[in-house]
Amino acid sequence: MKNHATHVCAALVLYFALCAASAFARNTADVIDTHLVAARNAAGFDFTGTLARLCVAPAAVPNTLRDVAPGPAPARDTWFANPAKVFDNLYFVGSKIHNSWALTSTEGIILLDTLWTYNSEEEIIGGLKKLGLDPAKVKYVIISHAHPDHVGGAKLMQDRYASRIVMGGPDWDSIEKSVNGYPEGKPKRDIVADDGQRITLGDTAVTLIATPGHTPGTLSMIFTVKDNGKPLTVAYSGGTAFNFPSTAANFDTYIKSQTKMAAAAASAQATILMSNHSEFDSAITKIRILASRKPGEPHPFDIGKEAVARYFTVTGECAQAARLKLTQSPK
Ligand SMILES: [Zn+2]
Repeated sequence: MKNHATHVCAALVLYFALCAASAFARNTADVIDTHLVAARNAAGFDFTGTLARLCVAPAAVPNTLRDVAPGPAPARDTWFANPAKVFDNLYFVGSKIHNSWALTSTEGIILLDTLWTYNSEEEIIGGLKKLGLDPAKVKYVIISHAHPDHVGGAKLMQDRYASRIVMGGPDWDSIEKSVNGYPEGKPKRDIVADDGQRITLGDTAVTLIATPGHTPGTLSMIFTVKDNGKPLTVAYSGGTAFNFPSTAANFDTYIKSQTKMAAAAASAQATILMSNHSEFDSAITKIRILASRKPGEPHPFDIGKEAVARYFTVTGECAQAARLKLTQSPK
């Protein structure tokens, strides 16, 4: 009899444990949904690309460092885009997929990001020349992070024009450690960015904000552009996708950086959100719209403070959801 009672008790304990576990799983699923809804509401029609990439089934990334050689260059018509003047002092020299920007000043040019090795010569150097700008005047190149789709032209700019290359310390480290990633040579370690540092050139300055997450050394930026003489502030988000090893600690770092950059954008009163992928900031679409802008119409990049804030809600909320999924997924 005693034995039977023990079995009944054990079964009850197991039953309640299972109930608690399934209630926990249900609660977690509800909380994940809350984050996904918050991200969807924040995205509205402005950031559908960012929402799709970050909130719709982002892939889990194994906890190993990838150091692979870049693949062969894709066909030119998959990436080629014409350069464009976008503000009085900001020029697009990117591709259909990746952005590179030339910020002009009284003392030369600051280049933001440098595409792939295979298209940086044509898009950046060729693009600057088409726009009537001299690539030899590029004094600084700021790399948002050391992935091959942004750092590809850094060596070229350093070798040919002696441009100073600015990057986060951990990302310089990753370039130095890489065995396979730079078959055509690496840029040499140059300026190691500090959080809050200002890169000043003539009448222009770019403030660097350390936003680790996408990579450990990711840099975001705040700077001013002029639209027919009217100054407008840009928040440039330096790293977006969750292609870091999927650990809770990495997501925590990423989430903290989104909050930090949202605060920096708000205090600078940024009304423009830019990124280094058209997928995230719709640069190519906006440049197309800009071409038919009539006098008095708003600039398509000038979306307002409230929309800029919503961008960082999307990235932060999607990251919260992805982080919770890690703890939930059966292994
Ligand atoms: Zn990247």
